[in-house]
Amino acid sequence: MERPPREFLSRMERLLGGDYPAFEAGCGLPAFRGIHLNTLKCSFGTLSRALPFRLVPAPFSPLSYYLPPQAERVGLTPLHHAGAFYVQEPSAASAVTALDPRPGEKILDLCAAPGGKSAQIGSLLGGRGLLWSNEVVRGRAEVLLSNLERMGVANAVVSCCRPEKLCRVLSGWFDRVLVDAPCSGEGMFRKSEEAVRAWSPEHVASCAARQLAILRSAGSAVRENGVLVYSTCTFSEEEDEGVVSTFLQESGDFELADCGLAAGRPALLPRARRVFPMDGGEGHFVAVLRRISANPSLVAEYVPAEGKHLGMAEELYGRIFRSGPTRRIEEKRESFFLLPDVLPALDGLNVLRAGLPLGRLRPGRVEPEHALFMAAKPREFNLSVNLGCDSPEIRAFLRGEELAVDAGGRGYAGVSVEGVTVGFGKCSGGRLKNKYPKGLRNPA
Ligand code: SAM
Repeated sequence: MERPPREFLSRMERLLGGDYPAFEAGCGLPAFRGIHLNTLKCSFGTLSRALPFRLVPAPFSPLSYYLPPQAERVGLTPLHHAGAFYVQEPSAASAVTALDPRPGEKILDLCAAPGGKSAQIGSLLGGRGLLWSNEVVRGRAEVLLSNLERMGVANAVVSCCRPEKLCRVLSGWFDRVLVDAPCSGEGMFRKSEEAVRAWSPEHVASCAARQLAILRSAGSAVRENGVLVYSTCTFSEEEDEGVVSTFLQESGDFELADCGLAAGRPALLPRARRVFPMDGGEGHFVAVLRRISANPSLVAEYVPAEGKHLGMAEELYGRIFRSGPTRRIEEKRESFFLLPDVLPALDGLNVLRAGLPLGRLRPGRVEPEHALFMAAKPREFNLSVNLGCDSPEIRAFLRGEELAVDAGGRGYAGVSVEGVTVGFGKCSGGRLKNKYPKGLRNPA
């Protein structure tokens, strides 16, 4: 790791007092790495049996584990392709533990890319309610979309909208809002030399100003008695307690609530929490705020588009799945989507995706989407092919090759690895034509 700037270290010394030597000694050590188990798709037993190393629980969420140093290239493993887990710095999971999303709720993840916390929220919602994941940078919003697709999150909206606009339009609509704010990344220093080089007191001050603006917007999206969680991966008091204190003083709409986290240590604000490398994670700050003022929502419900080809989409669905859809199908611009339980009007919010893509209209037929399979379990398919995680067949499938299979029939088949769906193909004559998307394939 590049030596952090002297001014940063002096600030850390003032912040940590007697704990500073432990912090400084840790600066030269390797960073913690971790994963988050996706319970939408996989159990701990399946994952731990399939990985060639032991997963040690991390204290920041019941679904977080440390990766050992010998765990390499985990992103290329079949169960990663299948969305069984998300690679995430362990203490990053603490923000969603504090958010505490419950199935059926409406959750906004305002600064969501690349999607680690959205994936966690998606797991905890269990397919019920709505996860609205927003990211202001278009390229990053696309990565977020691809990650949520891999994780099999069916009840999500992904947008690329300025926070002030999104939160004004959806004022008072959400039960819980997460602001995992862009920050100076002091908790990334062991992982990112770029973060070390970008650090300056001026950068910290400009991050704090931007964070306060985002938090002000986020507050308006929260319903009365709803929860707003503010988190960063930086240690700076200016960006952490400073931003929250200013926000609380100027708005009067929120009060601090308990973080519900035992890991880490008390922050400089009551009931907020901090994690330093000495606490087992790279670094995180989390504060939970509860809205105490009224905030009635005037948001209209979404009105799905009327389609002429819904019958074709239903027919395709019936060919792929053992039972009919439990969600409403929408036809929109030659594409079909399964809609979440709840959805607000989406006009003007630069939505990339609302709900789960089912298929695309082609001349005389509907072509199914990869995402449709990713959100389903093998037992739901009429035809399915299960492959072992160490088999040559799964390696060939992930490279996009055709396979010799016995799926017990002709047509679209879900493909799974160790019982976790990873994609689909089209079976005929003992062969599976590979439909794994080109952009996701492993190199040959
Ligand atoms: N929550 C994400 C996760 O768990 O994968 C990480 C979020 S990252 C710390 C902060 C995000 O905020 C970045 O993706 C960044 O592009 C976005 N961002 C940058 N400037 C922003 C702004 N002015 N308003 C909202 N988001 C912004």
